[in-house]
Amino acid sequence: MSFKNLNLIEPIQRALVTEGYTIPTPIQEQAIPIVLQGQDLIGCAQTGTGKTAAFAIPILQILHEKRKLRNEPSRIKALIVTPTRELAIQIGESFSSYGRHTGLTHTVVFGGVSQYQQTLALKRGVDILIATPGRLLDLVNQKFINLRQIDIFVLDEADRMLDMGFIHDVKRIIAIIPKERQTLFFSATMPPAITKLTSSILTYPARVEVTPQASTADIIDQSLYYVDKGSKNGLLLHLLTGENVTSALIFTRTKHGADKVVRILDKNGVTAEAIHGNKSQNARQGALERFKNRKIKALVATDIAARGIDIDELSHVINFELPNVPETYVHRIGRTGRAGHEGQAISFCDAEERAFLKDIEKLIGKSIPVVKDHPYASSSPAPAAAFARGGFRGIGKPRAGEERRSSPDERRRGHQDGRGPSRSSRPDDRGSERRSSNR
Ligand code: AMP
Repeated sequence: MSFKNLNLIEPIQRALVTEGYTIPTPIQEQAIPIVLQGQDLIGCAQTGTGKTAAFAIPILQILHEKRKLRNEPSRIKALIVTPTRELAIQIGESFSSYGRHTGLTHTVVFGGVSQYQQTLALKRGVDILIATPGRLLDLVNQKFINLRQIDIFVLDEADRMLDMGFIHDVKRIIAIIPKERQTLFFSATMPPAITKLTSSILTYPARVEVTPQASTADIIDQSLYYVDKGSKNGLLLHLLTGENVTSALIFTRTKHGADKVVRILDKNGVTAEAIHGNKSQNARQGALERFKNRKIKALVATDIAARGIDIDELSHVINFELPNVPETYVHRIGRTGRAGHEGQAISFCDAEERAFLKDIEKLIGKSIPVVKDHPYASSSPAPAAAFARGGFRGIGKPRAGEERRSSPDERRRGHQDGRGPSRSSRPDDRGSERRSSNR
């Protein structure tokens, strides 16, 4: 299957050639024809599967064809709502790339920055609006945005919306857009609250599912280093100054931890910057750009700040600290090995993190190969692998009808990531980071 078989119009075909895309990803191959037919869609897919193009390309085509017929001025005809600024910006970049020859216009609105430039763009008129929920509703209330003529509505990363406490904002948005519309709904997972939402906002949707978790975990070369907490810095420097690490995305559990790692790397001559919710939007974008352009070797991130980050050709993901939620491990390592590139994921594990490791290995259904021969090997012996000990359930997802129950370890740890609906103010206005205090 090539893009030529998808009946795409010439201006889009041309843009895809420039992008270097020849073969659609599975979600694109399945979703594009459905969307072009005008049908509602539930796409079960996460970032990294090519889902942005799966909705952006057919939206551009539909709007371009309609414009040829009606030749009317720009008004917002397609609305894409996504949970974080980073995702919103990346979706905007995708529309710029794929739509560069269509003459269609778009803009991106998100919180945490002045609304002035955003309202200027809106006043000029746009065909496509990409928005985070809080700022979108603010601008609707101020009458800068009129959503009464939306033909296509995309809800992106619906499960994250739920996690981040956006669900009420989403419902408010749905209440003010036309009932007669095409709706495209994307979510990496389908918890019951999300399934309920789909049944209330979609009409006879087609369902497309891709399962990147299994393939991600399979194509990425994973390795594990048992190391004492106090030796992690030494091990990190040892690896980063070694031969084969060209660029590394390093994960810590807390913002404070991210800053500390950056200071140590800097002091030892490894160029690094941190991205997390305490950094301004400009600082985060700047750091991401410098990392993409290879001006810095390491980007140190917390999970939420890294969500949606799109970097091709990233050689290494390093888990400086293991996540306490096992699915986060799969999300993290999925940042490397993208678009067919080989990737390596290295994880450090100290004595206190062994329970996290056990949960991760259970989830991915295999034990991560251990690198024993390194100068910072842990003084306490490694336990037998969880895989060998406890059996496993298969990769990524519970079996049909099975809810993933939290293990006693998880319950003891009290789900420290703070998942839950509590919400004190608009998350997207305070940055995409909104979990507990020092995350
Ligand atoms: P997404 O899941 O939308 O975040 O896309 C993941 C990455 O894959 C992005 O860097 C895209 O530019 C890239 N990508 C999407 N579709 C294709 C394709 N058909 N061929 C090659 N790269 C692609």
